[in-house]
Amino acid sequence: MLNEKIAKLINEQINKEFYSAYLYLDFANFCEDEGLDGFANWYEVQAQEERDHAMTFRGYLKDNGIKVTLDAIAKPDKKLTKVMDALEAGLEHEKYVTSLINNIYHEAFEQKDYKTMQFLDWFIKEQLEEEKNAEDLVKKMKLFGADARGLYLLNQELSTRVYTAPTTNKD
Ligand code: MG
Repeated sequence: MLNEKIAKLINEQINKEFYSAYLYLDFANFCEDEGLDGFANWYEVQAQEERDHAMTFRGYLKDNGIKVTLDAIAKPDKKLTKVMDALEAGLEHEKYVTSLINNIYHEAFEQKDYKTMQFLDWFIKEQLEEEKNAEDLVKKMKLFGADARGLYLLNQELSTRVYTAPTTNKD
């Protein structure tokens, strides 16, 4: 069994991860409309990964015999007028997600819930990666996105991202 507060936080995290998927799908739509199919591909893959995160949290609750309650997913609310808006909003969002994961970890630490701390280790590492990826995108866009040729090449680079199922601590 899990501590009630931790179970509640993890249940909420399922919703947050699905929201992340929804948000990145919204970014993908925007990029597609801007004619940047490579950027759109990058965010589509990202959205798939977020769904996986949600499923991993769901699996953890189920493994612990906790009933999962699905809530409504909020509407993506980032105002996008140019691609850089999405890149920056993505970075900001990942920092927010890191704070959520840290908060659950902190609660697990307080409760001496070593099992949940170990489960969350994968996500702690993943968030480092997510923030780095989002930051790299912003940097690359600043460096190369200003002229059409640079943007074209960056779009091509991002079109090569392929979805692979994550290796979680369940493997
Ligand atoms: Mg995530």
